Parts: sequence; C-alpha cells; structure tokens
Amino acid sequence: MYLERLERSLADVRRRISEACERVGRSDPEAVTLVAVTKGHPLPALEAARDAGLEVIGESRVQEAEEKFEMAGDLGLDWHMVGHLQRNKVKTALPMFELIHSVDSRRLAREIEKESGKRGRETSVLVQVNASGEASKYGFAVESASDEVHEICALENVRVLGLMTMAPYTDEEAVLRKTFRRTRELFDRCADGIARFEARHLSMGMTNDFEIAVEEGATMVRLGTALFGER
Ligand SMILES: *Cc1c(COP(=O)(O)O)cnc(C)c1O
Repeated sequence: MYLERLERSLADVRRRISEACERVGRSDPEAVTLVAVTKGHPLPALEAARDAGLEVIGESRVQEAEEKFEMAGDLGLDWHMVGHLQRNKVKTALPMFELIHSVDSRRLAREIEKESGKRGRETSVLVQVNASGEASKYGFAVESASDEVHEICALENVRVLGLMTMAPYTDEEAVLRKTFRRTRELFDRCADGIARFEARHLSMGMTNDFEIAVEEGATMVRLGTALFGER
C-alpha cells in the first residue's frame, strides 16, 4: 500500500525538483538529496522507501525513531534526525542517526561532543538557523549564527557539514524565498570564513515549499506529506 503510493508520488516529486533546477540553471537534479520524512508513519513506510530506491529517511522524535529502529533491522537506509533534539536524548540518538540536521544550541552541540567522545566517534551535524525570525522556531538567529557555527566547528568530535532551516508555514512566495535566501547567504559566508565548516549540505524545503528551496540552492529537501500523504 505504501509502496504503490510512494512510487507515484516520488515520480511527481522528482519531476518537480528537476523543473525547479531547470528554472535556475542548476544542471544536476540528482545533487538534491531526498530525505523521506517517515515520522508519524509505521515501519512499512520505511520499507517502501527502501523498495522505491530511496536511501535516506528522516525522523523527528527520538522515541518514535527508536521503536522503528529496533523493529527495522538493517534496512540499508541512512537515518537522519530532523526534529528538535533534547539533550537528554542525545545518548539514544547517536547510534541511530547518520546526520543530525537540528543542532540549535551550543549546549546541545556540547552534549553531542561529550557523548561522541565517550564512544570514540565523530558525529555529523547541520546547524539549524531560524531564518524567518518566528518565535516558535528553533535555531540560531541569522545575525549570530556565524559566530555560533564558528564555536560549534571548534568541537573535536562534531563535524559541521552545513546548515538547515525551516520556513514559515505560508503560501507567500516572497517570505519563503527570503528565508531560504538568507540561509544560503549565511552558508556561503560560513564556507568562506570558517575553516572547519564543511559546506556540503543545505537542508531546506518541505512539502509546502521545496521547489522554492531548490531554486534557492537546497541540496537536501525533507519531504513527508508529499511522499506518504497526510499524517
Ligand atoms: C515533519 C518535518 C518535515 C516534513 O514535513 P512535510 O511538510 O510533511 O513534508 C520536514 N522537516 C522537519 C524538521 C519536520 O519536522
């Protein structure tokens, strides 16, 4: 049931990503990684993602992810944490996730540093930016973000591979575009100015706004509803 629907929606999503790339002269739509956000959906959604050839799934709640992770066995998928991560969940999160998109405070970054050190490993993260300025959103304000990225990049066991943002829920294209553009500009400044910042991923765009995000330079889009339907 999940697979049939996903194969249809995936074809549509891929076409829309390609068209967005074309509009701005981006030559390689394959360079946009699709993170299939499976939060709120049971294990068969993850299995369908794998069967449809997707490689990355996104979860936003540690406890829900853990339940699926334990049931799943090795699906051969990369798991990404896309939601707000509480510090007391870092221990549980680290063994599951290949990439944490949502580092939104120095204290969280330091906790990841500490727990990664204990395990003798490095953890790859993105720094979350609140580029819309909404009070309800997690992430660093654009004005202070490059200082924060600088500090987080100094941690030994944390690799900063880019930035993530969430746009406001709105249909106003100008508002969405501005949010993504500010994040992209910050990404470029970090790439130029911070030696340890590895400018690989710009995670922006959800079901409501992913085409605009791709036009503004996203390298990762996080799609739930567009792929699996309403939660
Ligand atoms: C739920 C969620 C998504 C996916 O949202 P859709 O609108 O269903 O595509 C993406 N990113 C984050 C951080 C989320 O929590």
